This record gives sequence, C-alpha cells and structure tokens, in this order.
Amino acid sequence: LPLSRGHNFSAGPAALPEAVLRRAQAELLEWGTSGASVMEVSHRGKEFMAMAEQAEADLRGLLAIPANYKVLFLQGGATQQFAQIPMNLARPEQRADYIVTGDWGEKAVREAGSLVRAQVSATSAANNYTALPPRADWDLDPASAYVHYTPNETIRGVEFHEVPDVGGVPLIADMSSTILSRRIDVSRFGLIYAGAQKNIGPSGLVVLIVREDLLERCPSTLPKIFSFAEHAAQNSLLNTPNTFGWYLAGLVFQWLKAEGGLAVIEQRNRRKAETLYDFIDTSDFYANPVDRAARSWMNVPFTLADSALDAAFLQQSRDAGLLALKGHKLVGGMRASLYNAVEQASVDALVDFMRDFARRNG
Ligand code: PLP
Repeated sequence: LPLSRGHNFSAGPAALPEAVLRRAQAELLEWGTSGASVMEVSHRGKEFMAMAEQAEADLRGLLAIPANYKVLFLQGGATQQFAQIPMNLARPEQRADYIVTGDWGEKAVREAGSLVRAQVSATSAANNYTALPPRADWDLDPASAYVHYTPNETIRGVEFHEVPDVGGVPLIADMSSTILSRRIDVSRFGLIYAGAQKNIGPSGLVVLIVREDLLERCPSTLPKIFSFAEHAAQNSLLNTPNTFGWYLAGLVFQWLKAEGGLAVIEQRNRRKAETLYDFIDTSDFYANPVDRAARSWMNVPFTLADSALDAAFLQQSRDAGLLALKGHKLVGGMRASLYNAVEQASVDALVDFMRDFARRNG
C-alpha cells in the first residue's frame, strides 16, 4: 500500500483496517487454492461457501447472535431495506411506528409510508435533531407491526447509548453507522440491518440479522427476490451475491476477532470520541450542538467559530493528510467519522491540527 494513505474520516464509504486491505491485496490474484481471485470463482463452489460460512460464524461470535436469528448477506444497501422491511414484516393496513432522530430515519418512514401505515411516533425534528425525544413522549401502539429507529444518525451525529424498551413489539434498528462499534444485546431486537460501507466492508453489501419467527410474516405473494424468508431459506444464495463484499466483510470480522472483539473495540471507540469531544468542548473556536447524552461515537459534526474559515480549514487539513472532514451538505461545517478502522493516532493528529488551526485563526 502507498505510504501516502491519509487519516481517513470519511462518513462512508469509510476507512477499512489497513491489515485487511493488505491481506486482500496479497491474495487478490490467487485466493487460497482456487487458482483465481475471489471475484472469479463460483458462489456455489466449495471454497466460496466455506468462506461465506466462516464469515457468518465470525459475525455470530462477535455479536453473540442467538441461534434463533438468521444472518443474511444481501444487496441493495440500507436504503432498499427502508422498503423491504415494511413489505416483509407488516400488512398494508397495519401500523408501523417510527422513531425519527435524523435524516435517515426520515427517509425510512417516508419510504415505508407508501407500503404500510407508517407513523412518526416520536421525533426530535423540533430541536433540529440535536437530542433524542424523551422516551415518555413516544406514542407507541402495542398493535403495531414493529418499532423502527436509527441507533446512530450518521449526518447529525446523534446516537442512542441504550436500547429503548418498546414492550413486546419487535424493535427494528438501522445500524448502518454503529454496528460492530460496541457490544449489543441482539436478543433485544427483532431485526438489525446495516449497509456495509462503514464498519463492515465495501458498499454493495447489506447485512441483516433477523429473528426467525418474524420470517413467518413474509407474504408468500412477494416476489422472491424481495422476500426475507426466501433469502433465509437459500442462505443468501438465492442469486449471485456480492462475493467480493462478503469476502472482505469476512476479513474485517477476522480482524475484529484478532483485535480482541467488541469489548476492546468499544473501549477504543469511547476513547476516540472522548478525545475529540473533550477538545471541542474546551475550545471556544469549535462547537458541537448535540446533547451530551446523545453524542455519537462514530460521527462527530462540528462547526468553526467563523464559517468563512471553512474552506481554509478543509484545504489545510487535506494538505496535512486529514481526509474527508467536510460536513454533510444538509448541515454544513465539518464532520469527523471515527469508525472502527480509524485509529486513536488519527484522532490525535486531527486534534493537533484543530488546535493549531484555531491558534493561527482564532
Ligand atoms: N442509514 C444510515 C444510518 C446511513 O448512514 C446510510 C448511509 O450510508 C444509509 C442508511 C443508506 O445506506 P445505503 O447507501 O447503503 O443505502
């Protein structure tokens, strides 16, 4: 790999562990004993199937996924799931509750609205998504098909640090930008889904973890390609999967295990986030608007005291090897994403740069 790789704070597709990229590079032309690359072999061949099974087993180990959950490796990204979840898990006339704490939750409920009675049952839109709506204010219906929420909102950096209690209704979580960043109790969820391109691997792969009893809800009238039950019955090999994405995800899972698993990763992520938030809070040059109790470990948006300095900040940070700090176009300012592959040393380098920039421009 070139020595010029930068400190990558991209929100996604995001940094991948260098050890994983090196391994993929080393076996790019000849994968195992296949005599070909992993992209050039049948997804139904022995070697690919063994790799795919190992990847699932490793993910199950990392997240301690109970035996009554299926793991699916599909395509279409998290966005396709905004539609596929209501198609599979609710009847058209049935209510589904959505807790909206940011832009991705907004998209999810809007898409579901054309398929089922999707209800915004709580929202923090009124405070510009800088805090979580208090649990006591959630208007949930025990007869709803499910409750959907976004544990981490990638754009405005708002995260639930605890799994909300929603009674007996299945809880569905879009974990695209938080999965594998910490330990979770999978048994609290009916379904977890995540686009791969942050903490799992390359884009084009989406991982679902779904409680088996929910698969009984999938209408038999659904086209097979959209049916969770069908994909589960065929072990995600209903059609040709994203073979390279699955392979790379498997390497990331091996890396996470070798690093010590999610207990270790969680400590690192907590420290990385604290490093950046602590610096922002002690500075009067930078600001983060999010309620401290809901600040994301993975995505840290921040503004400069004078937005006229944004362009200089971006240019100089890029020159210093600090990549992709531009905030999302909906919010402006800056955003540093601190996914698993971003090392503490990169966060330290960012804070050093920010301190120096403030001194020169404050
Ligand atoms: N949900 C969240 C929380 C996201 O951050 C993103 C962005 O990548 C998406 C959904 C959309 O994912 P995809 O582009 O894989 O459809």
